[in-house]
Amino acid sequence: MKCLRVVIAGGGIGGLSAALLLAAKGIEVHVLEQAAAFTEVGAGIQLSPNATRVLFSLGLEAALRRAAFTPVSGETRHARTGKVLAQFPLGEHMDARFGFPFLQVHRADLIEILAEAARAHSLIALETDSRLVGFEACENGVRVLRESSEALLADALIGADGVHSVVRAALFGAESPRFTGNIAWRAIIPAARLPAGLVRPKATVWWGPGRHFVHYYVRRGELVNCVCVVEKTGWEIESWSERGELKELKAEFAGWHEDIQTLIDSMQPGSLYKWALFDRPPMAAWGRGQVSLLGDACHPTLPFMAQGAAMAIEDGAVLSGCLRDVRAASEVAAALERYSALRRGRTAHIQRHSIRSGKLYHMRGLPARLRNLALRARPGKSPWDSIYSYNALLCQG
Ligand SMILES: Cc1cc2nc3c(=O)[nH]c(=O)nc-3n(C[C@H](O)[C@H](O)[C@H](O)COP(=O)(O)OP(=O)(O)OC[C@H]3O[C@@H](n4cnc5c(N)ncnc54)[C@H](O)[C@@H]3O)c2cc1C
Repeated sequence: MKCLRVVIAGGGIGGLSAALLLAAKGIEVHVLEQAAAFTEVGAGIQLSPNATRVLFSLGLEAALRRAAFTPVSGETRHARTGKVLAQFPLGEHMDARFGFPFLQVHRADLIEILAEAARAHSLIALETDSRLVGFEACENGVRVLRESSEALLADALIGADGVHSVVRAALFGAESPRFTGNIAWRAIIPAARLPAGLVRPKATVWWGPGRHFVHYYVRRGELVNCVCVVEKTGWEIESWSERGELKELKAEFAGWHEDIQTLIDSMQPGSLYKWALFDRPPMAAWGRGQVSLLGDACHPTLPFMAQGAAMAIEDGAVLSGCLRDVRAASEVAAALERYSALRRGRTAHIQRHSIRSGKLYHMRGLPARLRNLALRARPGKSPWDSIYSYNALLCQG
């Protein structure tokens, strides 16, 4: 058989990582991105060792380390008193324990690193302003329908087109994702605007009743990323570009520790975004025939464990391993089935665990006090060891 040809719909973190991982296995990839450029919002992302392991295998270590910030530890603090409730080591401990670091990156930097590597790869074609509108099975493959140009023929189609996936809707019906009852505000603050020492070199989450506040450095420590999550109904717009009101955010976190007040006061109005959090229950199947899904298209995950993008990156590694040895178009469907069978359990676990984490963070009254006592009883233990140690590069069917 000639070189296997895969079309990926969606050039986000999942789609671009998968393109690089497939091309590294000698597979020809065509990425369709509906936006005018490969870009991401002004927000941060945490990359745990299970994700950096995969990205480093693509030769991206130097670029990522240059762009990132490496926190020394993670800590959980009490919303009002600021008391540290739990701590776990990150920094050198992650390298020593897992062989790969925990990095904090600006999303735009991550996408640029992935897109630049993809542009330089002879097996990858990148196409922006190109929206997938459908697909149809044809002899030995799939015909991919684009909005404003002719159809593309491929041996396989991967829908990496996010939570509102067109590919998913075509495969399984256009059922809307469910609103989780949580709203996230996101802002990036230049570190120079903040009092020295206010933000420590730690991934920090503050827990309070019905809400939590996360902050961490990105871009070598030049910027501080804030994510503020509040349980709230009645506003369900999911858009990376919906502006948030500082006044509203301030009211949501009234009574919280003075560090949180300073952080909110330091946000520039134009840099605050508001985002309703959606998810879907784990799916029993991800694809049919020569078509499958990847990333948020098949397992949108609440951000409370910072694992959504990590799961998308792992998906790409497993997918590339499953397609690596395919020698005939007739073998593609079985390889895609193997891929989703290998991934569904782990991603469903993370989806469920993320929902439970939100409940734990947002506890009130006596349950919150008991939670804090329990945390103190087992200090220093990372709750995510088993998640971080997963090696997607070995899990290849
Ligand atoms: C507040 C918040 C914080 C988070 N923090 C973390 C974190 O710290 N760590 C972590 O691992 N995860 C985190 N996540 C989760 C993470 O952002 C997502 O899981 C990840 O971005 C999913 O990537 P994706 O490529 O699957 O989808 P997306 O990022 O949604 O990309 C989909 C792409 O497909 C394109 N597209 C859509 N439809 C079409 C079409 N029809 N044709 C062509 N292109 C199309 C879109 O334009 C987009 O570029 C967070 C999420 C949120 C909301």
